[in-house]
Amino acid sequence: MEEKKRYYRKRVDFFRLLLKMKLWPSRKKILHGIKTINIVGNQAWITTHCNETFTAYNSKNSRAARFLRNKWDYEPCRICRIPSWKLEKYKSTRFNQSFGSDLKDTVNDKS
Ligand SMILES: [Zn+2]
Repeated sequence: MEEKKRYYRKRVDFFRLLLKMKLWPSRKKILHGIKTINIVGNQAWITTHCNETFTAYNSKNSRAARFLRNKWDYEPCRICRIPSWKLEKYKSTRFNQSFGSDLKDTVNDKS
């Protein structure tokens, strides 16, 4: 199978990225699958497949945003059971300063 690389802008909106990837890296470096994400203003209510619920703020410089961009070491959550194609997709995703998608079509944007 051919590896298809995806390019996203480095400054892509963090929530758009979450909506696209549906992955959440925890502080313990466990990668969870996102079941639902509800965005209200600058906050997102996230529920993972292992039924953890928490709030995230829309910041490109947050720990989670940097984690996803830099692909720090992680363990996939055993309860979430992220499908391997999704992990492959994540691994083949690159972030670039000057080109790539800004995912503007991912969510309805009022601005
Ligand atoms: Zn999980």
